[in-house]
Amino acid sequence: MSVLVFADSSEGKFKKSAFEVVSYGKKVAEQIGSNLVAVTINATDASQLYAYGAEKVITISNDQIATFNAKAYASVIQQVAVKENATVVVIDSSVDGLYLSPILAVNLQAGYASNVVALPSSTSPFTVKRKAFSNKAFNNTTIATEVKVIGLAKNSFGIHENQVAGVLESFDAQILDMGVQSVSIDKATGKVTIADADIVVSAGRGMKGPENWGMIEELAEVLGAATACSKPVSDLGWRPHGEHVGQTGKPVASNLYIAIGISGAIQHLAGINASKVKVVINTDPEAPFFKAADYGIVGDAFEVLPTLIEKLKAFKQS
Ligand SMILES: Cc1cc2nc3c(=O)[nH]c(=O)nc-3n(C[C@H](O)[C@H](O)[C@H](O)COP(=O)(O)OP(=O)(O)OC[C@H]3O[C@@H](n4cnc5c(N)ncnc54)[C@H](O)[C@@H]3O)c2cc1C
Repeated sequence: MSVLVFADSSEGKFKKSAFEVVSYGKKVAEQIGSNLVAVTINATDASQLYAYGAEKVITISNDQIATFNAKAYASVIQQVAVKENATVVVIDSSVDGLYLSPILAVNLQAGYASNVVALPSSTSPFTVKRKAFSNKAFNNTTIATEVKVIGLAKNSFGIHENQVAGVLESFDAQILDMGVQSVSIDKATGKVTIADADIVVSAGRGMKGPENWGMIEELAEVLGAATACSKPVSDLGWRPHGEHVGQTGKPVASNLYIAIGISGAIQHLAGINASKVKVVINTDPEAPFFKAADYGIVGDAFEVLPTLIEKLKAFKQS
């Protein structure tokens, strides 16, 4: 009997969520008195997972699954779950995770709870707390099947070091005939993606026009952040659609979210609630975003940003 976590990676490097699912899986394994096994697909330095409690790391290296394919990933994780006699399987609730987990659950005849935000409050019945209604409510769910698949919400548990002496084992998985395969991926090179970013600098219609985004990009560069925007900004073509965050855009679960010239409409907030610290810069002290903010600056972005960038640069140099 074991707890199995899928530690996701991109171009060989672990995503931040990989360390969080391992940290979480370790605690679940302690709760149910079993060991923790992590499975990786095409990751280069799998032994990094020992630091977060993975006692055994199963590595799968196969060029046929060099790019994400939900059916194929679900199939290989299922093979490892069966081999390791896993009773709990933890996957992150990223976009890819939300694709593959239901398929995996069907393959394993398991119950599946997505967007889980805490350790099981009880293991018998197995009960987990989940986010619901765009993070406006919580839902306690029991999973009655023998095998359980848990989708862990990003940033809900955190990364906790828990060094163990782990072992690596390679696994020769059977790869499904996928039918569909990505042949190439065009990425915005050199940029931190919104999904993986620790810090997101986001701007709205208050920036007046696309010609003013230079300072948003400069602030993002100083902070090593991803850039994002509100829906009207991408609708107007000021920024690419891939940057639009909110209920109808991308969800953001960064450690720091800086919102500049964004009013804080409910549809925008729905996508960024999972971010830890929210900083708002807005000229209007009545802007709804201030109610959701941890820190707020009532001020004109065109005055605040140059000073902020200058101070941050000086701070980094010192
Ligand atoms: C079904 C539906 C789905 C939607 N989904 C989304 C979504 O996913 N994401 C999303 O973002 N929106 C979404 N919207 C739109 C949403 O309701 C708001 O209209 C939108 O978020 C407002 O964008 P904004 O804050 O950039 O613009 P505005 O509402 O125009 O706000 C601009 C803000 O900038 C401030 N400002 C002005 N000048 C300055 C300055 N010089 N310095 C600093 N601050 C300044 C203003 O005080 C104001 O608060 C959706 C709407 C609907 C109906």
